[in-house]
Amino acid sequence: MTLVMKFGGTSVGSADAMRETADLILQARDTWGDVVVVASAMGSKPVKVTDLLLQGAYTAFAGDLDTYPQLAAQMRAIHYEAIDGLLSPEGERQIILAEMERFVERFTTLCGAVSVLGELTPRALDAISGMGEQMSVRILAAYLRELGYDSEAIDATELVLTDGNFQNAAPQTAATRAQTTARLQPLLDSDAIPIVTGFIGATSDGVTTTLGRGGSDYSAAILGQALDADEVWIWTDVDGVMSADPRIVPGAVSIPTLSFREVSELAYYGAKVIHAKTMRPCVESGIPLRIKNTFNPTHPGTVIEEDAGLSRQNGALKAVTAIKGVSMITVEGKGMIGVPGIAARTFGAVARLDVSVLLITQASSEQSICFIVPEAAAAAVVGSLEAEFADQLNRHDIERIWSRDAIAIVTIVGAGIQTTYGIAGRVFGALGDHQVNVIAIAQGSTECGISVVVAGEDVDRAVEHVHELIVGGGKVS
Ligand code: ASP
Ligand code: MG
Repeated sequence: MTLVMKFGGTSVGSADAMRETADLILQARDTWGDVVVVASAMGSKPVKVTDLLLQGAYTAFAGDLDTYPQLAAQMRAIHYEAIDGLLSPEGERQIILAEMERFVERFTTLCGAVSVLGELTPRALDAISGMGEQMSVRILAAYLRELGYDSEAIDATELVLTDGNFQNAAPQTAATRAQTTARLQPLLDSDAIPIVTGFIGATSDGVTTTLGRGGSDYSAAILGQALDADEVWIWTDVDGVMSADPRIVPGAVSIPTLSFREVSELAYYGAKVIHAKTMRPCVESGIPLRIKNTFNPTHPGTVIEEDAGLSRQNGALKAVTAIKGVSMITVEGKGMIGVPGIAARTFGAVARLDVSVLLITQASSEQSICFIVPEAAAAAVVGSLEAEFADQLNRHDIERIWSRDAIAIVTIVGAGIQTTYGIAGRVFGALGDHQVNVIAIAQGSTECGISVVVAGEDVDRAVEHVHELIVGGGKVS
């Protein structure tokens, strides 16, 4: 059996954390046989190595010659401290220290080049920001060797072939599968533990790319798919996906199982537990994806699987999330009734600003179209719509284009919404009972989620009381 496990920045953030991570790796190996590890750059809040690398690049670009050398020193200290705590002087300590030094020097050189050229390309950003993973995996693999296990640090540039879309590169599945099995299978066959960098890949010319911020989760899924893994585990610092944000709802509980579709609704609405693209390779290959907590490893966490087999859970509401800081834009007028193309022109005008729309509603009277955008974009969106519909506004076919700020979207997720009568009724009942006024409603056709738009001051109350339906009547199963 093959298991791919990804450890985030906090799980490799210090010598102690790496020790615990190594324990988890070795335990998993006893149960699973073949284990492939994917690791992020070191990062314990508030300092993440990837952030330091990027900050170095940006300050160098801005002509600041003082900051990146300081960041280099900070990075050196973080990695050296971990090495001191993990590797003995008789072992590989000096070798790994020297390897870290090479990366720190490379960082300094690249930042120097950026400042001299006064140019910071996406390609350079990827070369710089991907180094954190290259450093962390070398320490972790050396520590496993020090414990007496065969382990090798591998740069995913050897495994994950991507396009040249730097900063947000897309993996190429067939080539990645070929490279990954060719490189990793022999290691697994000889009982070695591969420790692979998350986040990075390479073009066919061997140029380093990154998969986007937070992309190490995605790396794990890509490798899981390439190796036909039995499961992919994402180790993080929470007990899986929670039924609500615990900062708003102290009684939030971990959700034992979610379908891929349910998580898509949640991920979209800001439950920032896993990187949004992580699911795709797993869905395509039917590989269960498990979220687990390094600080509470015996907790089963959340397993995300195909929709099939989850039918016994129908009836369950699973989670409620909120997106705050959004605005509702309304295009309103009696002259819009029965006129084709208004919606297309509306969203065309928004798209030209590169603003993404979070929710849309239009009642069948066609007297208005409402949609939600991030608050920061609202004024520009209204301006763009006024320009687009200048004629209609003059003729009063469209009477008003306006934005209502300081509102929020509350989304309730659960596949049970599809098959259970009265769920919407219960949600609105709970909101009404607690004086939450619903401004607009949308239910996606996947019927996995209902979203309601409420005033900003009502959002926490709305989340709290909808959550009571989840832990009470809606039952998390
Ligand atoms: N280190 C990368 C980042 O901070 C990737 C990851 O941690 O998932 O974005
Ligand atoms: Mg992450």
